[in-house]
Amino acid sequence: MDLTKTTIKGVNEGLKAKNFSAKEITESYLARIKKEDKNIHAYLSVMEREALKQAADIDEKIADGLPLEGLAGAPCAIKDNILIEGEKCTAGSKILANYVAPYDATVIRKLRSAGAIFLGKANMDEFAMGSSTENSAFGVTKNPRDLERVPGGSSGGSAAAVAADECVYALGSDTGGSIRQPASFCGVVGLKPTYGAVSRYGVMAMASSLDQIGPLTKNVADCQAVFNVIKGKDLRDATSADFPLINIGKKGKKELRVGLPKEYFSQGIDPAVEKLVRSAIAKIEAQGAKIEEISLPHSEYALACYYILMASEVSANLARYDGIKYGVSAAKEEGDLLSIYLKSRQNGFGDEVRRRIMLGTYSLSSGYYDAYYLRAQKVRTKITEDFKKAFAKVDLIMTPVSPTTAFKIGEKIEDPVTMYLSDIYTVPINMAGVPALVMPCGEVNDLPVGLQIIGPHFSEELIFQAADMIEKLL
Ligand code: GLN
Repeated sequence: MDLTKTTIKGVNEGLKAKNFSAKEITESYLARIKKEDKNIHAYLSVMEREALKQAADIDEKIADGLPLEGLAGAPCAIKDNILIEGEKCTAGSKILANYVAPYDATVIRKLRSAGAIFLGKANMDEFAMGSSTENSAFGVTKNPRDLERVPGGSSGGSAAAVAADECVYALGSDTGGSIRQPASFCGVVGLKPTYGAVSRYGVMAMASSLDQIGPLTKNVADCQAVFNVIKGKDLRDATSADFPLINIGKKGKKELRVGLPKEYFSQGIDPAVEKLVRSAIAKIEAQGAKIEEISLPHSEYALACYYILMASEVSANLARYDGIKYGVSAAKEEGDLLSIYLKSRQNGFGDEVRRRIMLGTYSLSSGYYDAYYLRAQKVRTKITEDFKKAFAKVDLIMTPVSPTTAFKIGEKIEDPVTMYLSDIYTVPINMAGVPALVMPCGEVNDLPVGLQIIGPHFSEELIFQAADMIEKLL
């Protein structure tokens, strides 16, 4: 039996039935990483010793006849902007090349108590800015489905690790699409939870009003299992909330009302991608779900507003990387404080990060603040209201994830605006703070295509229900 093909449930059952040990499964994954990751480069660092120790602890528990936690023994990959105590955490940036995390993020603490095994840290675009992992300071990750193509980004390492069977599941972060677009490009399941559903304590902030952590998995059930472990209020993240569990009623196939926003099926989308997404939706329609066309009129402005708000928050959040408190420092070469700041940042940050810091500093500067930042905030409210209105009529909204399948490495990196357009269907969801799950719904020329299922705030249960139904129909 190939142990690297298993799901969380498969691991759990196999361990209980003593078909294999946690040590065996961990060793299988470590061996696979050794063999495959030369080509794929999903990992920035592998935590072999730590992983084997965690596995030994689980095997001991089994030997002692103690009950197993839900994620026990399932090896996972963690995006390299999430802190694991004592491990390097670079966020894909030269400025943090040697930074070692002093504590565990809340999600890591929660995974630990659910029996998780950490295999290593996954590659990403620098500080989560990008859609291809080409902005990583440590080299691009390849799409396991076609090594000439990008895995998407910024959680490209996490998605590729899951798709290449180099882990059972992974954690990513999503500020404008960074879990969902790579999940779509690599053919795996990914969830961007409701804003506030998962604590961000111990994740390196990109744009704090948009960031969320979420799972990337091989199927819908695993996604739900990981989400159930990491969700919930945390006193260390004031934006986190417990699930009010409102508007989560069981919906039968026939009661489900699904909206298709016409703005998300318009020009710019590859017709073959649109066809697949529509045919997945037709399958639940055939089961009795009511499908209707809706409108989210302000989504059209979401990408433009995102690049103002996100960049503004980025410019504030990244001010802390100054060569004094963290990471790479020019203190040895430079005498005065300002020169240390300037030189450390100049040496440490890549082009895309600099571009966004400059954009954000500009739109927050006095004289431009009202015209850019304030205005974008007002449009953001309109975008959120569109979703609210839509959810008064429908239970869920379904859309494509990205206008195309995975593109070639190098194809878009010289043209930032074309690159930004690959997030056109994912960004509005972060602006509104609502949850969205992405699942594979077929292939175009052997490349995976994703379907995006969006629900009202804190409706993850309903989204999982619908996704599970569709998974069984496909
Ligand atoms: N690709 C988008 C960007 O470059 C989204 C990034 C993200 O979600 N972290 O900003």
